[in-house]
Amino acid sequence: MQKGNIGVTTENIFPVIKKFLYSDHEIFLRELVSNAVDATQKLKTLSSIGEFKGELGDLTVHVSLDKETITVSDRGIGLTAEEIDKYINQIAFSGANDFLEKYKNDANAIIGHFGLGFYSAFMVAKKVEIVTKSWKEDAKAVKWSCDGSPEFTLEETEKADRGTDIILHIDDDCKEFLEEARISSLLKKYCSFLPVAIAFGKKKEWKDGKQVETAEDNVINETTPLWTKKPSELKDEDYKEFYRSLYPMSDEPLFWIHLNVDYPFHLTGVLYFPKVKSNIELNKNKIQLYCNQVYVTDSVEGIVPDFLTLLHGVLDSPDIPLNVSRSYLQSDSNVKKISTYITKKVSDRLQSIFKNDRSQFEEKWNDLKIFINYGMLTQEDFYDRAKDFALFTDTEGKHFTFEEYQKLIKENQTDKEGNLIYLYANNKDEQYSYIDAAEAKGYSVLLMDGQLDIAVVSMLEQKLEKSRFMRVDSDVIDRLIVKDDAEKQTLPQEKQDELSALFKSQVPAIDKSEFTVMAQSLGEAAAPVVITQSEYMRRMKEMANIQAGMSFYGEMPDMFNLVLNTDHKLIKEVLQREETACGNDLTSLNVQMNTLDTERKSLRKQHEGKKQDEIPTAEKDQLESLDKQWDELKEKKNGLLTAFAGKQPVVRQLIDLALLQNGMLKGEALTRFVKRSIELIG
Ligand code: ADP
Repeated sequence: MQKGNIGVTTENIFPVIKKFLYSDHEIFLRELVSNAVDATQKLKTLSSIGEFKGELGDLTVHVSLDKETITVSDRGIGLTAEEIDKYINQIAFSGANDFLEKYKNDANAIIGHFGLGFYSAFMVAKKVEIVTKSWKEDAKAVKWSCDGSPEFTLEETEKADRGTDIILHIDDDCKEFLEEARISSLLKKYCSFLPVAIAFGKKKEWKDGKQVETAEDNVINETTPLWTKKPSELKDEDYKEFYRSLYPMSDEPLFWIHLNVDYPFHLTGVLYFPKVKSNIELNKNKIQLYCNQVYVTDSVEGIVPDFLTLLHGVLDSPDIPLNVSRSYLQSDSNVKKISTYITKKVSDRLQSIFKNDRSQFEEKWNDLKIFINYGMLTQEDFYDRAKDFALFTDTEGKHFTFEEYQKLIKENQTDKEGNLIYLYANNKDEQYSYIDAAEAKGYSVLLMDGQLDIAVVSMLEQKLEKSRFMRVDSDVIDRLIVKDDAEKQTLPQEKQDELSALFKSQVPAIDKSEFTVMAQSLGEAAAPVVITQSEYMRRMKEMANIQAGMSFYGEMPDMFNLVLNTDHKLIKEVLQREETACGNDLTSLNVQMNTLDTERKSLRKQHEGKKQDEIPTAEKDQLESLDKQWDELKEKKNGLLTAFAGKQPVVRQLIDLALLQNGMLKGEALTRFVKRSIELIG
């Protein structure tokens, strides 16, 4: 029997392994099972080139549980005593302490760096034994044993069969790994697609109301998973079935892409466009990353472009440096190439579905658009490809490419400055009257009700030349697309102001909303009162809700315009009644105010260019008094108008109707409106 010290420079490597790798303890199983698979694959290779001439026989790798031990057994190449010495005893260690310190929270990094795969067994075992017999003729079976100190023993032993048993005597604080359910779930997670059969115990069946073991091995993996097969051999149903096996609770996927590259890197996999029902679901199912069919992780950030992390499926590449830190990944040139490749593949696939089966593409667009929009927003090169197949949808559900839509609206929706005006709504019901008005004018209205559409609108305004997006309710219909300068307004300014003041006095207080009342000539057929909200202000608020650092806008009240249509019969009648009721009073007030105004204006003119102390005190006082008198008259006038408006139920009624149309009439105001309506009918 041979005794010796394991060749590490640090005396106490095992406590280090144990302590630092705490969070990732479970990966020991992945490491041991994939070593067993590697040893099996190597034997198959030796056999295929004729170097190994014996029978391969059943090559199933067995994982078994006992009271205190986990054993992983293979019938692979095995190890000779010399090989144990070389591969197990001499772990090349340089600068171990520094490295361990740096990566102490990243088990993968440590294991990868030191080829510590096998030693990860010590994360869960107080003692590990290797019982192995090499495939080589006349090889003697050997048993290596180590109890977690840097000392080991190596002795000859009896072993009938070729291959290796790794026996883990599980540590007291790791008893969970002796539970069948735990090992079963770990095998499922890490080993489901390993290329050699892995058996965990025996298959069970129901007999006389009890589960009993059969003689058949319980093979837990699929050795040739879908992505390793040729696309030409696969049917749609195969892809769907594989998807179901990965994500049993999810709806059928929309599309899939089978990836297969040999050069300049190796990558296989299948990516699925999922049908997502909610945001929560979006983040729950993830792309799984494999390395030669060994599961590595489901956090693929950095490897695939951000927007594609929303996809589902598997990627398998031996060329992704799996055992290094995330920041390293991002600068790795292979990883960059892979990311670019995947982006291109995804866009090619979408492009081809769009071209070859546009109706299918359109049918699925609603589910698809979140991915495509997200991609266009975050990835320049994806935008350049996607702009040809990304779609607009109008309020009637018709789809257009960007180019088709431009052509459609060019004629009728170009303003006097040559800007193409895209009209959109984001709620068909709430904005119905505005959509209706726009369509009556022959305009097309897009429906932009997606989660990302606010951002898409801003992006497109930057990408598309001379293009602006306006929500249908952002101005009165005639001003949505301004085609000429002609400002038609027949009512004198003074009358407009009076009308506005009159209505303003009756606008109810609505929380976090402010109204600017104005009079405009909108035509006899248009509504008497129209509420609009400036595109710019609304967008600022919307952006504030999705972007940090803009909370200033988020706090501001919503600013609305209440536009009075001076061409409408009811508005004209209000004006007439006002004229009759307080015309004389108003005229006299106006005359007085105008006189005061002329006076103070001429005084101000005299003061122009003078410093404050050069102006005589008497003149300053006079000016102050003029202002005061004017303000008083103005107040009086407002009082007059308010008193008049208060006696005109139609004023309040018209305002309320406009509010109602915009879903802004609620609570007490709504109840009062209903009552007033009944009275008016009666
Ligand atoms: P790695 O697998 O990264 O080389 P490990 O520490 O897991 O590092 O294993 C070290 C070496 O031990 C392997 O390269 C292999 O030569 C040998 N080895 C480990 N497990 C087995 C096994 N089950 N059968 C044969 N050889 C093995």
